[in-house]
Amino acid sequence: MNLVLFGPPGVGKGTQGMRLAQEQGLAHLATGDILRAAVQDGTEYGKQAKAFMDSGTLVPDDIVVGMIEERITGNGEAGFLLDGFPRNVAQAEALDAMLDRHGMHLDRVVFMHAPEQALIERLSGRLICRACGFSFHRQYSPPRVAGRCDRCGGELYQRDDDREDVIAERLKVYRVQTEPLLAYYRDASGFRQVDAAGEMQAVYAALKEVVEH
Ligand code: AMP
Repeated sequence: MNLVLFGPPGVGKGTQGMRLAQEQGLAHLATGDILRAAVQDGTEYGKQAKAFMDSGTLVPDDIVVGMIEERITGNGEAGFLLDGFPRNVAQAEALDAMLDRHGMHLDRVVFMHAPEQALIERLSGRLICRACGFSFHRQYSPPRVAGRCDRCGGELYQRDDDREDVIAERLKVYRVQTEPLLAYYRDASGFRQVDAAGEMQAVYAALKEVVEH
C-alpha cells in the first residue's frame, strides 16, 4: 500500500504516520525528518536546506523531489507512507511522474485537518525525542520523566521552528502553497479526509478506518 498523509503543520501527520507505518509495515518517509537529519549531518543538501527550514518556508522542490525518488523506489517493503510530501502542486506533479515511471500508484491520499488554534497549541507545546522521533506535549501528553522519552529514554527537545513566530509563517506557507493540494487530489478515487481535532487514539482509529476502507 502506498499512501500520502497531508495537512497543516501540527495536525499529527508525524505521530499518526509513524504508528500507521509501523503497524502496516510501510516505509515512513517524512521529508522534514530526512531534511533535519541532513542538517544535523552537515551534508550539502542539509546546508542548502537549513535557512529555509529555520524561517518556516519550503525548501526548493528539486532538493526534496530528488530525496524522495531514491527512497520510494529503493526499499523492498510493503509500500510507503509519505508524510510532509508533496507540499505543493509542483511536488504532487513530480510525484505522479515518478510513480508513472516506476509503474507505481497511490492507494490513498489522506487529508488530515484541525482548527488553526489547536495546531498552534500543539506545535508550541511540542517536545520531540532526539533518538526515536516520538512526540510529546508539555500539557496534553507530558513524558513521565521530564526531558526524557517514555519509549526509549532519549533526550526531548523543542524544534527551532516550533517557536511562535516561525509557526505563524509555517501556517501561512501551508495555506498558500499546500492547501491547493486539496483541489489537486479531491477527485482521486483514493482521496479521504480525517478530522484530526480530537484525542490521539480517536484520530488514529479514524485514520486506520479510511486507510483500510
Ligand atoms: P515538517 O517536519 O514536515 O514540519 O517540515 C519542517 C520543514 O522542512 C518545513 O518547514 C520545510 O522548511 C521543510 N520541508 C519538509 N518537507 C518539505 C517539502 N516536501 N518541501 C519543501 N520543504 C519541506
